[in-house]
Formats: sequence, C-alpha cells, structure tokens
Amino acid sequence: MTSNCSDILRLKVGHILNKSVGFVSDVQIKEQEFYIASDVYANSLSGNISLTRIHLGILVAGDIEATSSTECGRCLVNHLSTTSASISELYSEHDNEQSQFTIGGNCELDLGPLFRELLLVSEPIQALCCTECKGLCANCGSNLNQSQCECHEDSISKILSIVL
Ligand SMILES: [Zn+2]
Ligand SMILES: [Zn+2]
Repeated sequence: MTSNCSDILRLKVGHILNKSVGFVSDVQIKEQEFYIASDVYANSLSGNISLTRIHLGILVAGDIEATSSTECGRCLVNHLSTTSASISELYSEHDNEQSQFTIGGNCELDLGPLFRELLLVSEPIQALCCTECKGLCANCGSNLNQSQCECHEDSISKILSIVL
C-alpha cells in the first residue's frame, strides 16, 4: 500500500519553539512505500534527526537513507538502490535571508521539501544492481547475470587483453 508521506514529515514543533535555545528533540523516521514529494517515491525511508532550538528557529541535523527502484547502469534491470544524505539545515521561525525553509505559522516544520532536494542531489550517477554486475553482452545483448551467451568468452578475453 502506498501513502502520501507529506503528513508524516510535517512535524509539530510548537513545543520546541517554547523551549530555550539549546533544547534538543530527537526524531526517528522509519516509513515504507510513500511519496516524499509528488515526484520522489521511496520504497523505504529511515532517518535519525535532531531538532535543536536556536535563536533563529530550529536547526535540523542528522542522516537520512532512502531506498528506491533504480535501473542498473550496466544490465538495465530495475533493482532497489539506497541513497543517503546528511542534513544540516536551518528552519527559521520568520522569513529570513539565511534560510530557504521557514516554520509555518501553525508551528509546523515540513521536512518533505528538504528531503526531496537532498535525495535528488545525492542520486547515484551510475547505480548498479550489484558491484559484480556482468551487464549486457555488447554483442548479442543478453543479460550476462542470467545466462552466458555464446560470445561471452570472447568478450571476456577482449576485456582481459585490454586490462593486461
Ligand atoms: Zn546490473
Ligand atoms: Zn553475447
């Protein structure tokens, strides 16, 4: 089942804003199968986030990790790949030039747009289904992880001759 996660990532932070500077609240995120944003789907998302009260607002810091379906750069088969990102971002209490994120008037801090941005930027350039992926045969196009084609030994010896 898929659900929209934007509600889960919208944190009520009124109680933190009422605390004095230096107060820290930890948030654990562990969700399955949802849209972080309308264009970013995650099969799973986990994170350990700390919310620290500072004079400008709340500092969000921690690490997040998302898994999503990605096409292997070598064999083109879809597989789950993991993307992780570190966070250190100021959510200001009022509009502020130093931060692009603002805590809403209803004391809500929305992590969705931040997570979206981080995960899009951290996307692996060539995600492989596994480090030993044999890819597709350049000759006949068969997936060499699944079967050995006739031309396989040929291409291996070609690769070896290049390496050596
Ligand atoms: Zn592959
Ligand atoms: Zn082949």
